[in-house]
Amino acid sequence: MNRELADILLKWYADNRRDLPWRSSRDPYLVWISEIILQQTRVSQGLAYYNRFAGEFPTVFHLARASEPEVLKCWQGLGYYSRARNLHKTSKLVAEKYHGQFPSTPDELIKLPGIGRYTAAAIASIAFGEPVPVVDGNVIRVISRLFGITGNSRSPSVYRMIHDTMKELMGNLPPGIFNQSVMEFGALQCTPLSPGCRDCPLQAHCFAFARQMVEQLPAKPIKPVVSIRYFNYLVISVNKDGVEVVLLNKRTGKDIWHNLYDFPSVENDRLIDPEELAVSKEIRELLGEEWTLQHVAGPVIHLLTHRKIIARFFRIHVKHETPAMKRYRFTSIQDIRELPLPRLIEKYIGNHFPD
Ligand code: SF4
Repeated sequence: MNRELADILLKWYADNRRDLPWRSSRDPYLVWISEIILQQTRVSQGLAYYNRFAGEFPTVFHLARASEPEVLKCWQGLGYYSRARNLHKTSKLVAEKYHGQFPSTPDELIKLPGIGRYTAAAIASIAFGEPVPVVDGNVIRVISRLFGITGNSRSPSVYRMIHDTMKELMGNLPPGIFNQSVMEFGALQCTPLSPGCRDCPLQAHCFAFARQMVEQLPAKPIKPVVSIRYFNYLVISVNKDGVEVVLLNKRTGKDIWHNLYDFPSVENDRLIDPEELAVSKEIRELLGEEWTLQHVAGPVIHLLTHRKIIARFFRIHVKHETPAMKRYRFTSIQDIRELPLPRLIEKYIGNHFPD
């Protein structure tokens, strides 16, 4: 029975798999890059990021030699910048400690920064043929529906059940191809909404289909609470030595967007109104005596994992540089785009600073 199901999946995969660049290679570096990028975005959007990243850093040595701002810049738009930093850290470790050779087992791979059990299993199985099942969102959905696994899909016990079921299904089939067949089946056929049950080759074997439980499975985990933060951004331009420059803030604290640039800001329990700008002593010191409010944009809502940022942008021209500006970076408008920026700031610049 298991072999029959696995054969159906492999045949389906051979007939339906998408032709994606990382599939033409078993290079662990490229498998790793593709897996980390695909944790951030769908394949359709991830493709451009993958091509950009693999083009800029074609081997682990290229990535290891790059500076952190170069890596963050190339990652820009994908969000979750700690993943880019971990890619960079791991590339250095692999280049230096392992002489460019990735370890081949999940137990070794998982010790590297940013490589969790899913990525370790994906690299080990796809690049090295290790018989380890992968368990990602697509796999959880397919296996839960097919075998009627009803518990919370994020719980350790359900993870174990799915892992063990995958292992049994895999048997001695090629691990990388088998894993990819289940993931691809989840991405294209057994999708979260409106799965293709009508023409599904596994329909006759499917627990959820037979009991009309497709929509209930996999059981959803309880959603985490989303916290809201209000950022009031001051987009300050000033004429410095004859050049129009903008003040940028490098985020160095233990917070979101570590080492990325945004504008000076006031974080508050709400958005502030234009007439409140000069009320704060901190803002008065930054702007000095002569300034003009040129434009107000927002509220703009920006969603991060477990967080909602609500931002307003005050574009202000200041006549003279003030001492309080010293802790910011002065950057010409043309050069802002060269720096690593959070998506929220990148979008604002795209909309308000024409090329
Ligand atoms: Fe998924 Fe529907 Fe196929 Fe069952 S019948 S495996 S729910 S697509």
